[in-house]
Amino acid sequence: MAKVAKKKPDPKQKALAKIKGLTIGDCTTFLDSIASDRDKAIAEMVELDDNGEFECDNYIVSEGDDNGAYVMGWRWVSFEDTPMSKICSCCHEEPTEKVVKMRDGTTDTLCETCLEDVTCPTEGCGAIEGTEKWGTVGDGFDGYCPSCADKREEAGVYGS
Ligand SMILES: [Zn+2]
Ligand SMILES: [Zn+2]
Repeated sequence: MAKVAKKKPDPKQKALAKIKGLTIGDCTTFLDSIASDRDKAIAEMVELDDNGEFECDNYIVSEGDDNGAYVMGWRWVSFEDTPMSKICSCCHEEPTEKVVKMRDGTTDTLCETCLEDVTCPTEGCGAIEGTEKWGTVGDGFDGYCPSCADKREEAGVYGS
C-alpha cells in the first residue's frame, strides 16, 4: 500500500468516536434538528417513487453553487439471491437456516426443511445436492448422494 501522510485527527470525528452505540439515526436526528427552513423546503422537493425503493425522511441537504442541491435519502437494496438473504431461496417462505455454496459458484440460502430435502440422509455424509461434496458421478438415488446410492446398491438395498 502507498504511504499516506498522516493527517491530524479531526476533533469532531474524535468526539463522535467517543459516543458509544452511535447510529446514523442519532446523527440524522441531530442534523434534522438544526436544519434551516431552506433545507426543509429543498428536502420537500424530493420526488419519491411509490414502490418504497427510495426513501427520504430527513432534512439533510448539501448545497453548493449549482442550480440545485443534493438531498440525503435511502436507497433500498434487496437481499434476494445473495448470501445475505434472510429468506429461503427454495420455498421463499421460511427463514434461512444455512447458506450453501453451490458447485456452479452460486449460493443457495436454505431453510431447515428445504435443506433436509436436498441433503443426503446417510449419517455422517451430509452432502448437499448441487454442491462440490455431492459429486458429479451420477445423480444419486432416493435422496442419497451418488456415492451413497452406489454403496446402497452394492449392499443390495434396492433389490434386483
Ligand atoms: Zn425453504
Ligand atoms: Zn451421501
